[in-house]
Amino acid sequence: MINLKEYEVWFITGSQHLYGEETLKQVAEHSQQIARGLDSAKQIPVKVVFKPTVKSPEEIYSICQEANTAKNCIGLIAWMHTFSPAKMWIGGLKILQKPILHLHTQFNRDIPWDSIDMDFMNLNQSAHGDREFGFIMTRMRLNRKVVVGHWQDAEVLEQINTWSRAAAGWHDWQGARFVRFGDNMRYVAVTEGDKVEAELKFGYSVNTYGVGDLVKVINEISDKEIDNLAAEYEEQYAVVPSLRKGGDQYSSLREAAKIELGLSAFLKNGNFKGFTDTFEDLHGLVQLPGIAAQRLMAQGYGFGAEGDWKTAALVRAMKVMGSGLKGGNAFMEDYTYHFDPANPLVLGSHMLEICESIAVGKPKCEIHPLGIGGKADPVRLVFNVAGGPALNASVVDMGNRFRLLVNEVEAVAPEHDLPKLPVARVLWKPYPDIKTGCAAWILSGGAHHTCYSQNLTSQHLEDFADIAGVEYVLIGKETNLRQLKNELKWNEVYYR
Ligand code: MN
Repeated sequence: MINLKEYEVWFITGSQHLYGEETLKQVAEHSQQIARGLDSAKQIPVKVVFKPTVKSPEEIYSICQEANTAKNCIGLIAWMHTFSPAKMWIGGLKILQKPILHLHTQFNRDIPWDSIDMDFMNLNQSAHGDREFGFIMTRMRLNRKVVVGHWQDAEVLEQINTWSRAAAGWHDWQGARFVRFGDNMRYVAVTEGDKVEAELKFGYSVNTYGVGDLVKVINEISDKEIDNLAAEYEEQYAVVPSLRKGGDQYSSLREAAKIELGLSAFLKNGNFKGFTDTFEDLHGLVQLPGIAAQRLMAQGYGFGAEGDWKTAALVRAMKVMGSGLKGGNAFMEDYTYHFDPANPLVLGSHMLEICESIAVGKPKCEIHPLGIGGKADPVRLVFNVAGGPALNASVVDMGNRFRLLVNEVEAVAPEHDLPKLPVARVLWKPYPDIKTGCAAWILSGGAHHTCYSQNLTSQHLEDFADIAGVEYVLIGKETNLRQLKNELKWNEVYYR
């Protein structure tokens, strides 16, 4: 359900009429080559579309207007091959609603020492043309990504890759619909928030449906569909014998399949990109959705448990950003600690709903009592998660603004079997160390729910926060508490 190749980034070159036809022809040729180069670069997951050189305020205004309404345009890459007087850009930039990356590059990598003359200098002057462009965006207080270097440089391509993924995640949020079944868990603070402000700021809407509306759809699922999906479960997972066809709990597996099919149909019919549920409002549902939430997330849907719509939306955005990359993105909760000073760890998990996309090996499909909610035992996938660099991200509602909080972590492969733990789990060490990392997270107001990512870096999320225009706080290798506390205080003033 996510295909980044549908998205376009428009490559726009600024110049002016001053230079005459011949120079402008060369500008156009060079721009086309760069746009083609970026479009065919393996690192860049979206289409890069060449647009004719803009040379006047009218042309600039018009391309910005066109970009705003183009359905598949997720952002602009702007480059000033020559000198493009930046007052020409004011009108266009004022109305531009798409993210913008300022590519500070030049067509040639090297100076042609033997042949360089004033004609060459007049054509290849982005070193100062781009400064003029940079000034006006700074003067207008516009967020943008600035990438510096030759357009074939691997690091430059990687930065464009990262930004275009962030822009795709942002584009996906605009007009996105998320459904909540029930409210949030009673008395819980951090999963609350201002849904009106979120729609204004982030572009997605969150609306509630009675769980009975879902139950109605679930009850319309045919026996044949249920049998087929139950068979798929048996094929894809190590299903415990009691749940298999002929086993004494097979009806529970069929019930779980029925819930997944109903949820899937409800999401498709309503054009939703994610959902939340809560164990406190399951009226008419036989089980709390377990395997259903795990598998729907793996298909690309956002999910948040206990009514956590902010995390559901974030999971969706991060799935879009990470599309096609190795590794996955999952709803996550900091669950319990291993405080051994020699090897301190966080165990991340949830009651059920960890996305299958981060599983290592074939997940086991099991059934166990839940202990809360008072419903039948839910079916769930149980698995471990590979070691390696990862991160946790959380959107916090600070009352006057949203904060995107990220903690870089190092996941470690499990050294123990955990035979009695009936849920998917991850072990990680937060950066810079467990005490500083957790203190920083708590001081920043980060939730216990996060989106855990194996394939995004903090740079993706920083670019995303810049595009969204929200506060971004990173807890990483360089974090020290004193500095972080100051940063939070200063941000308080900045966002006042
Ligand atoms: Mn939870």
